[in-house]
Amino acid sequence: MKKVYIETYGCQMNEYDTELIRSILKATHQYEFTNKESEADVVFLNTCAIRENAHAKIYGRLGEIKHLREKNKNVIVGLLGCMSQNLRGNLQRSENMIDIFAGPDSYKRLPSMIDSVLNNGKKKYDFNLSEFEDYSDVYPERVPGVNAWIAVMRGCDNFCTFCVVPYTRGRERSRNPESVVRETEKLVSDGFKQVTLLGQNVNSFRHNGVDFADLMQQVADVDGIYRVRFTSPHPKDFPEKFLKVMAENPKICNHIHLPLQSGNSRILEMMARTYTQKEFLDLVDKIRETIPDIALTTDIIVGFASESDADFEDTCQVMKEVEFDSAFIFKYSERKNTIAYKKHPDDVSAEKKTERIVRLNELQKSISFKKNKAIIGKRFEVLVEGPSKKNSAEWMGRIEANKTVIFANGAFSAGDLIEVELYNATANTLFGEHRPNLILADNSTSVLSEVC
Ligand code: SF4
Repeated sequence: MKKVYIETYGCQMNEYDTELIRSILKATHQYEFTNKESEADVVFLNTCAIRENAHAKIYGRLGEIKHLREKNKNVIVGLLGCMSQNLRGNLQRSENMIDIFAGPDSYKRLPSMIDSVLNNGKKKYDFNLSEFEDYSDVYPERVPGVNAWIAVMRGCDNFCTFCVVPYTRGRERSRNPESVVRETEKLVSDGFKQVTLLGQNVNSFRHNGVDFADLMQQVADVDGIYRVRFTSPHPKDFPEKFLKVMAENPKICNHIHLPLQSGNSRILEMMARTYTQKEFLDLVDKIRETIPDIALTTDIIVGFASESDADFEDTCQVMKEVEFDSAFIFKYSERKNTIAYKKHPDDVSAEKKTERIVRLNELQKSISFKKNKAIIGKRFEVLVEGPSKKNSAEWMGRIEANKTVIFANGAFSAGDLIEVELYNATANTLFGEHRPNLILADNSTSVLSEVC
């Protein structure tokens, strides 16, 4: 048995792909996995290309792995994922010690690529992007827990001008919904309580007339699943039917991660986001009318090409108006091969980007704190995840809005649904007290459906 060490960078889709890779290698009965790179025969970095600092981190790690290779020249080193796909030519020329390069659609061929390197010592490259590969026949090798991710579609056809995903992950393709339902059933039998449906533009899912609303309904109908989440949707794909399914199905969590990216319509057009500021705000109103207690979170990019102070003020204004529950805010970094890289010079200074991200983070922090404070004293259903990382005498779980709650230890287990009353809050965390005798579900769905 050869030992494989895998390090994963970037988004949840990459984490999911690592689970696929583990499953594909395990099925050969030739590999086992290790957490120590020093004892590995094969070292894989599953890389991310979304931002410059992700690249920088990986180049740093390659430098360290070079030393490993100097000590043991038989170690096979592989660069997988988006950065490998995006920078393939440059990396092949500059990184001599890498034996295997593989893009996100090539993982089923990794066992034969490793064999080939072992047998004839030749480097292997595979960057073929597929219009069909969806890995629906691979059951990912997951770390046991409460939540399991299921990629229901891969790739993206949107070509937002700042984004590399359409180039690194190829065309959008949706899985057969039956395979998603079967996977959910298996996850329930493996002890998972929650599934999060995953896709680069998850709500554009469509397969033989089944749309994302239908898929959500089918997954929520699986016996034994407590909660269903999804990420990340695009604001362009929110038909009324979808919101109605969300509103009417208690297992589908009332939380939408709704990427805004910019609050200025000119910048949104340059980004090719296909909505204006007004259309985004109208969508927020429509969502809140249909699902009044919805939690909304978002992604923002500051300092996109040509963003002026006035353009940035529009983003601040939308943030104030919408009052997102939380936000991931990033500085724009130009990505090679994207439309923005070719058409729009990255002309906002590093200082301006820093100034804007600091300001927006402060603004969001005050909004999150205000919203969290407003729910102190209320009771929420909490899905218990396990002991708190900071203090093992406390437990951690999440409310439907995907907010973390810390509460004192009690006689329950990871995967229980319990009721917690909140007594304190910061911008990022809620603190509560479990109300004994109010265990809502203890590994059974019957009680859950009553309370929901
Ligand atoms: S929707 Fe836009 S930002 Fe999201 S993955 Fe597709 S191209 Fe990238």
